[in-house]
Amino acid sequence: MLKTRLRLASALFGLSALGWTPTNAAESATNPVDPQRLSDITRALSSDEFEGRAPGTPGETKAIAYLVEQFKAAGLEPAGPKGSYTQVVPLVRTQVPMDASMSVTVGGKRRPLVQQQDMAALALRPVDRVRIGNAPLVFVGYGVSAPERGWDDYKDIDLRGKVAVYLVNDPDFEAASGDDAFGKFGGKAATYYARWTYKYEEAARRGAIAALIVHETEPAAYGWKTAIAPNGEGYDIVRPDAARERLLLQSWLHRDAAVEIFRDAGLDLEALKQSARSKAFRPVQLKDATFAADFPLAHTRIDSHNVLGRITGQKRPRESIMIGAHWDAYGIGEPDTNGLRFRSGALDDAIGIAAVIEIARAFKQGPRPDRTILFSAWTAEERNLLGSEYYASHPWLPIETTVANFTMDVLQPNGLARDIVLVGAGQNELESLLAQQAAGQGRVVTPDAKPERGLAFRADHFPFAKRGVPALVLMGLGGGHDLVKGGREAGDRWVSEFTAQCYHQACDRWSESWDLSGAAQDVTLVYQMASQLANSRAWPQWNPGTEFRAVRDASAAQRK
Ligand SMILES: [Zn+2]
Repeated sequence: MLKTRLRLASALFGLSALGWTPTNAAESATNPVDPQRLSDITRALSSDEFEGRAPGTPGETKAIAYLVEQFKAAGLEPAGPKGSYTQVVPLVRTQVPMDASMSVTVGGKRRPLVQQQDMAALALRPVDRVRIGNAPLVFVGYGVSAPERGWDDYKDIDLRGKVAVYLVNDPDFEAASGDDAFGKFGGKAATYYARWTYKYEEAARRGAIAALIVHETEPAAYGWKTAIAPNGEGYDIVRPDAARERLLLQSWLHRDAAVEIFRDAGLDLEALKQSARSKAFRPVQLKDATFAADFPLAHTRIDSHNVLGRITGQKRPRESIMIGAHWDAYGIGEPDTNGLRFRSGALDDAIGIAAVIEIARAFKQGPRPDRTILFSAWTAEERNLLGSEYYASHPWLPIETTVANFTMDVLQPNGLARDIVLVGAGQNELESLLAQQAAGQGRVVTPDAKPERGLAFRADHFPFAKRGVPALVLMGLGGGHDLVKGGREAGDRWVSEFTAQCYHQACDRWSESWDLSGAAQDVTLVYQMASQLANSRAWPQWNPGTEFRAVRDASAAQRK
């Protein structure tokens, strides 16, 4: 199915019209990325010396020094003002107490909502106390406002000062033929509208004081336990106007509690869900129902850092191609069964950083490209993409003339593969470029087998995609590769074993048994795509009907 789509994309947009020429066989035969160096850098960066690389810890200080040294050694120029390789990323950490007082009152009957049982609440405004006094509850369905799909769940509702109650995912997830939503949001595949981040941001834009998302395991793609933030801890970037951009309270609402609250208000959750799949859906204010909360909020500030270096383009320096990964990991945890405490993220994502450095080295070996290449090592990806989000809102090169963003987050260590797995297929023209380059390696592109997980919205390319920059992310956990040794079965087995045992745990460690020959090929693809774009005048575009095309189109005049 993907092959058809890619062929169609190539035919529609015409690679030559975009201004790039096919890579010749001699060029693709050379592999500029050395698996041994990938391994060496990954080993160094994921060593115990860096204590699991949590933002704001002594491990960060050491990691940043190491990265700056590596960027310099690779020959990169500092990307920032005054010769700086580092960008300060001010973060705020908040903590909702376990005994936070929260409740819903329906028809005079007060029902307490217990943190971590009924609620998985976060509060991201840095205030000393969260106080919400009897605010009306409004059910807004899936809460989607998607003009490009002719869909608006909000109609004329005024959410100011109210608590919005959302369904998780988008109207198409459980839609059947006959429902208006059927096929409108990519079927089971998650769209941006499916993400909890979108819903909270949309509620804040509309002036709501708080938002609750009814947790359901299948459309959320994870269980209740995963939805709970450990210790009620939340992270955000420091925002000049947090009161406008962030809700006072955002929370998952356990399905059992939601069913009872709706029932007390004379409503049925299943019937509401059915109505929310219709275009004619209108928000429903719960009769005689209010939400209240009152608790102290601990909040502290942490200064973390992004590291950025660049190669300034010789002809069009303001036009740039971004190549990035995240340096942060999970820090120090409880000892695991082997007594290991540092959660050092070797594959997630020290290896992505190693790849960024190797691509930088490869570029420095060739002639200076026409356009600028910006290399980034982001902080706080594991705290909800905060380093890349901060940079995207405080960029050093204009977003409008950023040609593309390439992000690598986890690469597979199981040797050569016959394919490259693409999460979020169907988005933009970079996918044709990937297919073309993969073909040069005798490989094919395989789409993510479970697009409903929404992985395409969960890496550092996303803050740029959201602002219109065409983006492509390589994710070794996006799906099992068709490995030369053991085929798809072995690839899938590795993904499920790694995810279950090592993902975000201390066992995500460097190993001498890794075979990074396949990972080196993947990194070479990124290098080749970036190189082609850097020496062309092409502006890859989002596919028609996708979420971020309109925002890109709005700045088209700046890309003549
Ligand atoms: Zn990661």
